[in-house]
Amino acid sequence: MLQDAHIHIQDLKNSAFIDDFLNAASAQAIDRFFGCAITPADWPMVESLASRCHGLVPFFGIHPWFADMPTPGWENDLRALLEKYPGAGVGETGLDRTRKNIDMDVQKDIFRRHLVIAREFSRPFALHCVRAWPDTLALIKENAGGLAFCAHSFYGTPEILAEVLSLGGYASFSAKQLLKPDDILKPLVAATPVDRILIETDFPYQTKWTTSADYVSTLRLAYEVAAGIKGLKLQEFTEAVFKTGAVLSKFVPS
Ligand SMILES: [Zn+2]
Repeated sequence: MLQDAHIHIQDLKNSAFIDDFLNAASAQAIDRFFGCAITPADWPMVESLASRCHGLVPFFGIHPWFADMPTPGWENDLRALLEKYPGAGVGETGLDRTRKNIDMDVQKDIFRRHLVIAREFSRPFALHCVRAWPDTLALIKENAGGLAFCAHSFYGTPEILAEVLSLGGYASFSAKQLLKPDDILKPLVAATPVDRILIETDFPYQTKWTTSADYVSTLRLAYEVAAGIKGLKLQEFTEAVFKTGAVLSKFVPS
């Protein structure tokens, strides 16, 4: 009963390969994936995957790296998808200060529009935040306080973690960082209540893989490391995280 809280499997492009990959992963006990879109161009692919792949919960949005190229009418298209899929979330959305080529005001505007829509539909959202926590937290407070959100690949100070949690957020820790020998996430995982922890791979990014078995074993190892930090048995921890994921994923394929 494993769950991957953040993937972009549509980026592999080849539908037959993706189906085989997800089916193989499901057969190895991965029962839920949060499949995050990054531009309106991949919304149809994510929608289609959610309709045919076991456990894939779709999130629709525009990643901050693509905030400068929204398609006309994207907000109405997003609303239509959320109406059609009552369990779908909003995102990946957020702010990234390392992307110097995309004006921060443009990023903030697009992010704010996502938050307004998430609030309008009471949906969870998948958050991307790199070196922009003060602005990100302020925008969430103003527009979407109390909505559940997945702070993807969370890394920040304990103070930021506390704010994320108090705003309704869930800290999603990445397999890549959990498996590094530097233990950089240890104090953050330790400080996050079990019912606010998510684990993700950001597949096909961050993680080295050639087969679905590599992918599954990386995810499983990440759960083992985090369970160890929390002092819980692996099964107890994976069940708790899966239960947490249900809060952000009431998606049932139509
Ligand atoms: Zn992502």
